[in-house]
Amino acid sequence: MKSFSDFDKYLDALNEITDQENRAELEEFYMLHSETIQFFKTIGKSVQDILSTTVDDIILKQLETALPILTKLKKEITNLDSNNLSALYKNEIAQIIDYIKNKMSISEFNDDSDDTANQLFYLLKENKKQSIVEKEEKALKTQYDKLVQAKNRASTEKEYEDIVIYFKDLNYDNSEELVCECLYKFRILKECREEKENRDKENRDKYDKLVQAKNNVSTEKEFQDLAKQLYGMNGYENTTELANDCDNQYNVLKEKREQSERWAEQGLCRYCGGEMGGFFTKKCKNCGEAR
Ligand SMILES: [Zn+2]
Repeated sequence: MKSFSDFDKYLDALNEITDQENRAELEEFYMLHSETIQFFKTIGKSVQDILSTTVDDIILKQLETALPILTKLKKEITNLDSNNLSALYKNEIAQIIDYIKNKMSISEFNDDSDDTANQLFYLLKENKKQSIVEKEEKALKTQYDKLVQAKNRASTEKEYEDIVIYFKDLNYDNSEELVCECLYKFRILKECREEKENRDKENRDKYDKLVQAKNNVSTEKEFQDLAKQLYGMNGYENTTELANDCDNQYNVLKEKREQSERWAEQGLCRYCGGEMGGFFTKKCKNCGEAR
């Protein structure tokens, strides 16, 4: 009959066999998945510690349970593009990744309700949505800045008109206000242009009328009046030249009249200054015109 001590030895031996089997299994598991397991520092270290001391099958079971999540975590963390991190979740995600990679222990996988891994998966999902929103916002802001620059450079009706259309489409920040500003500037430019066009047309009409009048005037007074009106056009087209011409004609006529008046006062022919003769009706001896 075997003693109790023999039985203890038997149990010890059995345990040793189990330990060796567990160790072998764990070693094999670790070899197969070392890349994933080592990605997580605390977990990797605890597996190595266990392998160098006693091995029970609990750690192996935990690892087997956790492996799919660890694999997924490693993949997500490795593939994460820092350019796609939204400003809103950036810090939180960095913190949780730091925790998962460096501090998370295998015992956290005992129950899988709302654990750290799920928190990260949730944050990454939200981040994805948020970074799309932020990218759209950024694109709008870029377009908005470009339009503001274009607005500040604009100087023509056409430019303001175009910018208004873009601002209306954009509908960002104070774009409504800027639409009003552009419309106001557009209106002022349009009014100025129309005013100038009216003024030009008036000048053109007046000019045509005066040029036509110049062909029909003949008296001293008419030339005087026309010269005055032409000078009044302030150098429009060749009005100064035409005015000078009328002024000259006026002066010639005026001088002629004054000369004729002086001759008449002296009793001479008012047309040529010749001596008047004749007995009953006086006639110029030079040109034959009567008084
Ligand atoms: Zn005469």
